[in-house]
Amino acid sequence: TSEDLRLAQDLARRAATSLDNGLLYKQAQEAIRARDSFLSVASHELNTPLTSLNLNVQALQRALKRAAQGPLPLDTVDAKLQSVQRQVVRLSRLVRELLDVSRISEGKLHLECEDVDLVLLARELAPRFSDDLARAGCELRLEMPETVMGYWDRLRMEQVLQNLVSNAIKYGRGRPIEVRVEADARMARMAVRDEGIGIAPESQARLFQRFERLASERHYGGFGLGLWIVKQIVDAMGGHIHVESEPGRGSLFTVELPLRLQEGPAPSGA
Ligand code: ADP
Repeated sequence: TSEDLRLAQDLARRAATSLDNGLLYKQAQEAIRARDSFLSVASHELNTPLTSLNLNVQALQRALKRAAQGPLPLDTVDAKLQSVQRQVVRLSRLVRELLDVSRISEGKLHLECEDVDLVLLARELAPRFSDDLARAGCELRLEMPETVMGYWDRLRMEQVLQNLVSNAIKYGRGRPIEVRVEADARMARMAVRDEGIGIAPESQARLFQRFERLASERHYGGFGLGLWIVKQIVDAMGGHIHVESEPGRGSLFTVELPLRLQEGPAPSGA
């Protein structure tokens, strides 16, 4: 009867609403969990370099006081200052990541593109890793042609490469790292390969999400924002990034970018 039909429709509508509400509730719970977990990671990440800075500054003050009675131990002072420098670099990087996240979330990732030689960029960037490479005891190999010219945002491209190589050093178990750059008529390809701890297949899709740090990698430190930012930059330049990896064997991150941005407004990273 029409009354039964009306009742059935009513029931269906209510079921759909409660399904929607259930979904919304689950999403809200998930967002709260992500926020809480991020706050705890962020406070820990910021606190570690600050504690170390504090200890080093106290040690330097003590050394200066003792210098009234004898010569200043220059080696110790130098070692402490280098450690201070490392912690300041680490803090700046973390703060820069936070700034990037708010900029990108507000749709304010503005690209300033110019003619860039990707090969030159990689060659110029490589020496910046020498300290980290020496500390990890690993070697960086560059496999590149003479030149790969494209129209990109130079600083953002540096950031992409810097992030991928830093991760390769961090998770690379001291094994050699390879950066390969190549191009065809339309696309440039930049690949960073390590032979480190690798990433489980079920985790690979989550890597490029915000605040995603794999639970097993907690002790390596980091906000879990780097790869999300990298993906937003690569997307904004009309490219894409993907990963191939096997646990225990290593990872290969490949970025593909058109040599020029497509006509029309540049996609924003929001
Ligand atoms: P983080 O700053 O925490 O390293 P990223 O966004 O750069 O954050 O990386 C997210 C997570 O992906 C890391 O916490 C790590 O678990 C994993 N990861 C990234 N690069 C590699 C790599 N080369 N090898 C193994 N795991 C990696």
